[in-house]
Amino acid sequence: MKLAEHVGLDRYTTIGTGGPARWFAEPASLDELAELLAWAAGERIVVETVGLGSNVLVHDDGVDALVLRLRGTLAEVRVDGEQLVAGGGATNAVCLHRARDAGLGGFEFASAIPGTVGGGVRMNAGAYGRDFRAVLAEAVVVSAAGVRTAGADELALAYRSSSLGQGDVVAQVRLRLEPRHPVAIRAEVAALLAQRKQTQPTNKRTFGSVFKNPRPDLGAGWAIEQCGLKGFRSGGAVVSERHANFIENAGGATAADCLALMAEARVRVKERFAVELEHEVRFLGPLELPPL
Ligand SMILES: Cc1cc2nc3c(=O)[nH]c(=O)nc-3n(C[C@H](O)[C@H](O)[C@H](O)COP(=O)(O)OP(=O)(O)OC[C@H]3O[C@@H](n4cnc5c(N)ncnc54)[C@H](O)[C@@H]3O)c2cc1C
Repeated sequence: MKLAEHVGLDRYTTIGTGGPARWFAEPASLDELAELLAWAAGERIVVETVGLGSNVLVHDDGVDALVLRLRGTLAEVRVDGEQLVAGGGATNAVCLHRARDAGLGGFEFASAIPGTVGGGVRMNAGAYGRDFRAVLAEAVVVSAAGVRTAGADELALAYRSSSLGQGDVVAQVRLRLEPRHPVAIRAEVAALLAQRKQTQPTNKRTFGSVFKNPRPDLGAGWAIEQCGLKGFRSGGAVVSERHANFIENAGGATAADCLALMAEARVRVKERFAVELEHEVRFLGPLELPPL
């Protein structure tokens, strides 16, 4: 069991901020994962998992937990008939390529979501009207209590949420896809990526959407923009000029800088629209937004 101590998490998050994990490990098999979870349970240590860190904000002082990142067989991808079987640590990009090469469509929506399938299930990540719920046949979830297999209903996948909690590790997923010509898949992915480039800061360090949309008819980005916050800055963090529901690390940003921008956005949006923005980004460590 390979365990590291005090590993900086800034390099494991797309925003590039955050302090160290008290404990860090990269299990490469189910056995290694089970061993690490048993050790953490015995030591009463909290377990967190990161995928590509594309929707997490880590406390600047770090996380008093065992942070896991899945590797090896826990990140492998294979095709099984019309299903794609992927380790929880496999990236959406690799899954999409494997599906396309096998002539399987249905996962194109994930082309612009820079995460792993484990993080995708946890967040029920989605775009362009489709999400993981639409394609998930089942997921293998491992925790200190053991291994279970669960479908989208059992995992309560809903808008950017699931019932998965701390210590639940999505070790494998089975995606239900459908036959589609690779040329059609390639064309749709190219169109979606081009659309994304127009509307979001794809070449900056961000953690994706900061807040969930409060209502289907009220986008968080639009609401924040109406409050005049595009370009608003705190330290090294800035509200994106391209899309106001993104915070960019403009250089030397800290988690505290990001949190300050989030707090300001919540206050102003509440004043103007009488809604309380709920954060989509997941907090690792004792981060908290001030009450409204
Ligand atoms: C430029 C950009 C664009 C984005 N666009 C979208 C979008 O269109 N739609 C969308 O939904 N999201 C989007 N996101 C957010 C993010 O990419 C998704 O939420 C993604 O699914 C997170 O996956 P991840 O592997 O990076 O998870 P992380 O960010 O590492 O983790 C997210 C959460 O999942 C948990 N987790 C991660 N892996 C596992 C696992 N194996 N088992 C259990 N829990 C796990 C973490 O503990 C955390 O709570 C975007 C992000 C960026 C930076």
